[in-house]
Formats: sequence, C-alpha cells, structure tokens
Amino acid sequence: SASVYEKVALLGLGLIAGSIAWACRRDDVAGEIRGYARSAESRDKTRKLGFCDVVCDSAIEAVQDADLVVLAVPVGAMGPLAREIAPHLKPGCTVTDVGSVKRTVIDEVAPHIPEGVYFVPAHPMAGTEHSGPDAGFASLYDNRWCLIVPTEGTPEADVARLEEFWHRLGANTERMEAEHHDLVCAVVSHIPHLIAYTMVGVADDLSKVSEKEVIKFSAAGFRDFTRIAASDPTMWRDVFLTNKEATIEMLGRFTEELFALQRAIRTGDGEQLHAYFTRTRAIRRGIL
Ligand code: NAD
Repeated sequence: SASVYEKVALLGLGLIAGSIAWACRRDDVAGEIRGYARSAESRDKTRKLGFCDVVCDSAIEAVQDADLVVLAVPVGAMGPLAREIAPHLKPGCTVTDVGSVKRTVIDEVAPHIPEGVYFVPAHPMAGTEHSGPDAGFASLYDNRWCLIVPTEGTPEADVARLEEFWHRLGANTERMEAEHHDLVCAVVSHIPHLIAYTMVGVADDLSKVSEKEVIKFSAAGFRDFTRIAASDPTMWRDVFLTNKEATIEMLGRFTEELFALQRAIRTGDGEQLHAYFTRTRAIRRGIL
C-alpha cells in the first residue's frame, strides 16, 4: 500500500528511531527516510546499518522537505532541537516526538513550531533496555500501544495521519491528555525503572553480600527484576527531571506501601502479607 508520508526525518538515531525506520521499510510506510544524530559515531553506525536512505550531518539538512519530522532524542534535548530546526520546516509538515514525558515536552517544543506546521506529540509504549542505533528492530511496535497527545488547534486530519503511520508500524493508538499520560507512565514505567535502579544500587552497597554472589545467584529474582536497570542513563535522567510532579507523587504512594509491608513483617502479620500477595498476584496474572 502507499506510504503514509513521502519524506520522513528522524532526529536522534537510537532504539526508538531505528525501530521506526526498520518498521517503515518492512511495509513501505515512508518514501524516503533521512536521519540525523548529534554524535558522529551514531551517524557512522547508522550508515553501516543502512536503515536510513540518507544520514545527514546536521538536523537542519535532515528536515529539508520532510513531511514528517520525528524528535527521537532524550526528552531534555527536544526543546533546543525544535528551536534549531523550526525555521527550516516545510510549510504543512507534521512534527512529532516519541518522548516518554508529554507535558514538559509540549511546553518546551510547541512555542517553537511555526505557523502552518502542526506538532502532534506521541509516545510509543515499547522499548528494551538496549540503546543506540544498533538496538532497533522492525517488530518493536507490533501490538504495542502508541499514545497520541494532540495539542489544541491541530486539524483532525494531521492527527489521524500520524495515527495511520503508527498503525502501519504495527501499533495500536489511543489518544490521551498530557497530564494523564504523565501520571499513567509514572505508574507503569518511570517508578518501576527507579525501583530497579535502587535494587541494583542497594545490592552494590552491601558489604556482607559480594557482587560475585549477587551475579551468581541472580536467577532467584534479581535478574528478572533489574533487567530495565541496564537502560540508558541520559534518557532516564531526563525522564525524572521532566516528570517531577507525577513521579514524586507515585514515589510517595510506593513508600507508604513499603512501610506498611515493613510493619507487617516486623509484627509478624502473616494475614496481611498473605492478603496483599494474593491481591497483587491476581492483578499480575491478568497481564500477558
Ligand atoms: P537512545 O539512547 O537509544 O538514542 C538517543 C539518540 O539521540 C542517540 O542517537 C543520540 O546520539 C541522540 N542524541 C542525544 N542527544 C541529542 C541531541 N541533543 N541532538 C541530536 N541527537 C541527540 O534512546 P531511545 O531509547 O531511542 O530514546 C529516544 C527517545 O524515546 C527518548 O525521548 C525516550 O524518552 C523515548 N522513549 C524511549 C523508550 C525506551 O524504552 N528506550 C520507549 C519509549 C520512548
């Protein structure tokens, strides 16, 4: 079938952009794909991997004539990047992003978007703990959700076209409001990552249990639980800097639960522990 956008520019060439490119190629979703990343190493790797038709040495060059521009850099880098490319966008083109946080990204990107160009924020809810140009693969978005967060005044046709783009990449889409998106993602993604980081940090701080033992016996829970702690530090730093309110609120709730469980353990309240684990097992079994 026909491509959804003739020319697509991917800014940032990591796991998310690489997977978009591979999925575009799988089903001819884009006519031509141009890519740009800040580091020369990422650009060279991308040239060798071949998922872009053209790899440009500047963002400005990459967005020339583009019908869709995808901001796929860490969330803290999106505002400055939008400002840099703004004067060079083709009238009528769509700008989108893939950032894990929406309120801050919209506030930092939208003011730079020129008249006649529409910004349609999005967030594919798919990822792995790997990063960089070689981490991407075509099936990453298959049967996953991509949340679309339309901003005021964007014509329905532009939003629908971006949704069609994500459907062709294999994803389902749902529209959501920015604040709600940030709260949902704090629960299902941001806090779990933070807890995984602390789990590794605590294990590393112990003096009575050696790192060798942690690695050797990790199959007992540690390994499954902490897989996501191998994720990119820059990306996750930016998530917590930009989703401050929702993550602090959720962290408060998490801390309360942990204290309640600590109390139940100390007082030997087996009934409470059993009831808690029974309820959470039922919820967890409902996933997958
Ligand atoms: P990544 O680390 O794999 O890739 C980031 C890319 O951006 C690299 O090519 C890097 O060189 C480039 N880059 C960094 N700063 C830049 C700048 N200032 N200008 C130009 N290029 C720059 O990261 P990723 O996992 O692909 O994440 C990209 C975006 O997608 C982030 O905003 C992240 O929040 C979001 N996201 C990630 C996941 C995930 O699980 N990894 C899932 C959904 C959304």
